[in-house]
Amino acid sequence: MRLASTPDGRVHVVHDDLLVDVTGALGLGVGPQGGLRELLSRGGGHAAHEALAALDLDSLPARSLAGTALGAPVPHPGKVVGAPVNYLDHKVEMGEQRTIAEYGVFLKAPSSVSGPDRPVRLPYRDVPVHQEGELGVVVGTTAWQVPAERALEHVFGYVPLLDVTVRSTEDRSTRKSFPTFTPTGPWVTTADEVGDPGALGLRCWVGDELRQETSTSELVYGVAQLVAYASHVMPLEPGDLIATGTPAGVGPLHDGDRVVLEIDRLGRLEVTVSGAEAVAYADRPGSR
Ligand code: MN
Repeated sequence: MRLASTPDGRVHVVHDDLLVDVTGALGLGVGPQGGLRELLSRGGGHAAHEALAALDLDSLPARSLAGTALGAPVPHPGKVVGAPVNYLDHKVEMGEQRTIAEYGVFLKAPSSVSGPDRPVRLPYRDVPVHQEGELGVVVGTTAWQVPAERALEHVFGYVPLLDVTVRSTEDRSTRKSFPTFTPTGPWVTTADEVGDPGALGLRCWVGDELRQETSTSELVYGVAQLVAYASHVMPLEPGDLIATGTPAGVGPLHDGDRVVLEIDRLGRLEVTVSGAEAVAYADRPGSR
């Protein structure tokens, strides 16, 4: 099953070339506590799946997928967990001496999450901002101190995710937390339709340039280990997002760029880039 949200926060099942609006049938709200997060919070991923499967989609309001703007499938996650240096080729390109095994995980502001309808907004005109194409994980059921062998039971689904990053000296949480710095979409594909999350091809273009191409088999901490590890640091809750890390090929984004991230079985996330609000780094408000 594929689940998308329109920018107004309404939840839709992607059914062939239609978007079927399940918001009313499931009694979901559309604010920060609503949408897919609310559905997952009611009873976890399995209950959500059952509630969706019980709907008669043919009887619900639908519109054409083509031409409909989509927002983030989970627009207001409780948290976004990130995985630093989780592909060895990215370790090499960054000149890193360490991997996730030494760094652990980091957090991005939930307000950084956006969908295909919103351009990535560059904060600075004189500091590079890079695309990082990543497999995103949507948590379905609370995971606290789970072993790797049970970790995938807590995953509701997967989504293409960009971990947009300023290349400056600040802490990761600062460099990665600007609004629109976590584009996700176009939809969440439920785990049952994805199969092994460690066997997905990932490709990321900026304009016509194919910058990143890998398989999730190359992850240092694969999805199960990453969920298990993170769950021993903090409880993972329904609707939380996990950015699993980026392979080599990160590079600068510029005003007017179009970024495309395609992951096998999950679809194609496309976003544009805007520098219209960029300021000089030295002029960043509050820095002095
Ligand atoms: Mn990243």
